[in-house]
Amino acid sequence: MSCFFDTHCHLADANFSSDFLSQCLASQSRPSSAQKHYYLAVSTSPEDWLKTVELGRQYPHVFPAIGLHPWFVQDGYLQQLSALDDFLSVHRDAIFAIGEIGLDKGAGRPSMVWQEVVFEHQIQLAERYDLPVSIHCTKAFNPMLTHLRDSNVAGVMHGFTGGAVMAKQFVEAGMLIGVNSVLLNENARRYHELVQTIGLDALVLESDAPFGQNLPVSNPLSGLGDLSVKIAALLQVSEETVLEHSCENAKRLFLKGRDGSII
Ligand SMILES: [Zn+2]
Repeated sequence: MSCFFDTHCHLADANFSSDFLSQCLASQSRPSSAQKHYYLAVSTSPEDWLKTVELGRQYPHVFPAIGLHPWFVQDGYLQQLSALDDFLSVHRDAIFAIGEIGLDKGAGRPSMVWQEVVFEHQIQLAERYDLPVSIHCTKAFNPMLTHLRDSNVAGVMHGFTGGAVMAKQFVEAGMLIGVNSVLLNENARRYHELVQTIGLDALVLESDAPFGQNLPVSNPLSGLGDLSVKIAALLQVSEETVLEHSCENAKRLFLKGRDGSII
């Protein structure tokens, strides 16, 4: 049985109309197929938290993650954070991670002072609610490492672009590396090297749908097969080995049952 775990997708995004989403999910999970699919559905702001949780109730293999993305941190961020805390306390049983959260030093992004407060607060929520995290990090790898080394959270560095040396430091800080279909670009040599450096024990797969690169247009959730073929070629193992390891890594992190066992 092949196991596909998409550890970062935006299923509540407007690009997935409810019909299109159910079509995409259905074509991935035919009852007779020898494939098992899991999706960590991340959210980015209070507007998509409830929809994400509802998708988790509607689809048994969709696992919601709730968080405030750095791009959507506003002047009234203390209110956003208390809304997040309230939401978590009400819906804790339906939530499997805090995300997408992070730091983004790109041009035109919200104040880093605000972002730092919001990120640190969400790390503390992850600790308090005993949840892993899904992290966005752009041009802020050193401050991010400091936060993570000072915390007890585990999680995924989603769409990691920091290179092989930096990736190893994040793995040592307790994180997995989320690999997506940017890897299919022939000129992505630095990314190829990263995958070869961290190996199968530290990587998980993600589509970042509907925003990821090189995704099949007819179904943006169906790209993990091509991605695993590429990783298999880079690591000189079978595609099945890539799927098995990446899926087990993701299940161990995100699907811990209350008693610590894996669902
Ligand atoms: Zn994302």
